[in-house]
Amino acid sequence: MIVTIDGPAGTGKSTVAKQLAQVLGFEYLDTGAMYRMIAVLAVEEDLDLEDLSAISELAERAEIDFKEGAAILNGVDVSTKLRDPEVAVAASVVAQNTKVREKLVQRQRELAAERNIVCEGRDQGTVVFPQAEAKFYLTAASEVRAKRRLNELLEQGKEVLYEQLLEEQNERDQRDENRPVAPLKPAKDAVMIDSTELTIEEVVRDLEEIIQQRLVK
Ligand code: C5P
Repeated sequence: MIVTIDGPAGTGKSTVAKQLAQVLGFEYLDTGAMYRMIAVLAVEEDLDLEDLSAISELAERAEIDFKEGAAILNGVDVSTKLRDPEVAVAASVVAQNTKVREKLVQRQRELAAERNIVCEGRDQGTVVFPQAEAKFYLTAASEVRAKRRLNELLEQGKEVLYEQLLEEQNERDQRDENRPVAPLKPAKDAVMIDSTELTIEEVVRDLEEIIQQRLVK
């Protein structure tokens, strides 16, 4: 069974997806981490993020894998690099590249094949797994989302400003929603969940309930 969770940055999607996978006994696929891995490579190689052919070529030689929750890029664990705000912004730029998307969509389908899995991202219900048995779209007010991200980064000892995070988040949402390929939008058959006033636990419980009902049918 494939469960998809899509939505903008900072809705708690990753935590919800991880916890939901755990309670269901499913695997978990963080597709944002895959775009972030391409971004890490691009930043390390100091490439122009808008250079379509350089970024496409880079995606061609990127070997992406996950091992016990760690993000493995060309054999190296890059998990700690993925959360840098610079990498997040770069990820949303390289995610506009059609070749990058083709390559990652194919890899996502490979990783999910014949598994019980919760796939989280922007286009999982619309493009990658239109046949998924349960689709969710998570939203929350943008100020609340930026505040959640701020607390997450502060907890990791990173120094960031709320205003800057909010601005970068809005910029990223705009890019994700307006790109011509696989724009961020809910699938027609997705269940919409607004998490502005809900805790992570409440969201996970709601999603689990809906899935259990579908499994019974
Ligand atoms: O979810 P996360 O914030 O880690 O994603 C980083 C960026 O990767 C997003 O801003 C988005 O541009 C891109 N992305 C995407 N499609 C996905 C997952 C992420 O375009 N399925």
